[in-house]
Amino acid sequence: MRIVMLGPPGSGKGTHAKIIAEDLSIPVVASGEIFREMIRKDGPLAEQIKGYVLRGELVPDEIAIRIIMDRLEKHDCKRGFVLDGFPRNLRQAEALTRWLKQKGLSIDLAIYLKVNREELIRRLSSRRICEKCGAIYHLIFNPPKHDEICDICGGRLYQREDDKEEVVERRLEIYERESHSLIEYYSKKGVLREVDGTGTIEDVQNRIKAILDCLRRRDLDKGG
Ligand SMILES: [Zn+2]
Repeated sequence: MRIVMLGPPGSGKGTHAKIIAEDLSIPVVASGEIFREMIRKDGPLAEQIKGYVLRGELVPDEIAIRIIMDRLEKHDCKRGFVLDGFPRNLRQAEALTRWLKQKGLSIDLAIYLKVNREELIRRLSSRRICEKCGAIYHLIFNPPKHDEICDICGGRLYQREDDKEEVVERRLEIYERESHSLIEYYSKKGVLREVDGTGTIEDVQNRIKAILDCLRRRDLDKGG
């Protein structure tokens, strides 16, 4: 099965991509991880990517497309894959469709993890870091015993500039603008499924599993 994961920062799509992939015994192809891994290697492409990633900019479409297609060409992707972080916009989605089409393939499912704005802001702005030892906490998912003090060294916890509410809101706005056409694109293809991304990881997984089961049954019916 070939799956695309869509969802805003803080929706948990990375976590869910991994669980789905494990269940289906197919690889996760996470663009962020691939780019970071490439930076550690040498070569002209690594140098190019390094610049963008270190400046906190997006890797340009042509480069991202080339790298991800190379990855999908590998043997372990023959039976399917779960894409996380790619495609990021309509242009990348169209390139992916063209590439798959040449092989007589297509995306079977695009999962859009929906989480309301207040919850996303709460999740994304809850990270705290110890100013003394650098330990990372999350007030919801990995809370310290005392809100403002490090469990390990007793240092004071602070909030990074990037995690402040105004900055988080800005990130979400950018995502919404970019993802709108992407969601519409997969919706028109009839492969988009919206999944409520609130609740526990297990709650969300159960919703996703129901969709996967439904698709598998449909495929069996088609196969006779
Ligand atoms: Zn500490």
